Amino acid sequence: MKLTKSQRQALKEKYQGRCAYCGDLLGDRWHADHIEPIVRNWWNGTCEHPERNTLENFNPSCPSCNIVKSSMSLDSFRKIIGGFITSLNRDSTQYKFAKRYGLLEEKEIEVRFWFERCG
Ligand SMILES: [Zn+2]
Repeated sequence: MKLTKSQRQALKEKYQGRCAYCGDLLGDRWHADHIEPIVRNWWNGTCEHPERNTLENFNPSCPSCNIVKSSMSLDSFRKIIGGFITSLNRDSTQYKFAKRYGLLEEKEIEVRFWFERCG
C-alpha cells in the first residue's frame, strides 16, 4: 500500500521519531518497513505476501536497518545482527586490531530492537 502523507507522519512518530530497530533518530530520509516482509518480486513487480501490505505491518526504519533487514523476518534479522561479531572477528583486521587495543568491548547479550526496549 502507498502511505498517505499523514499516515507516513504518524508512522514516523510510532516510536518517538526513532528507528523501530536500532533506535536512531530518523532524519528526513527514512523507510517504511514491512515488519513481516511482503517479499517483492523485482522482476515483475508482484509480491509474495500482498496480505501483509497493511498499515499495522509497518515500522519506521532508518535506511540501513531497512536495507539489512530486507525481506527477513524479525527473528532472522535478529540472528543476522547477532552474527556480526563473529564475522567481524573473522574478516575485519581493523576490528580485531581495535579489540586488541581495548578500544571496544564485546558483550554477550541478546539483540533487542528499539521497539522492544522503549515501551
Ligand atoms: Zn535503524
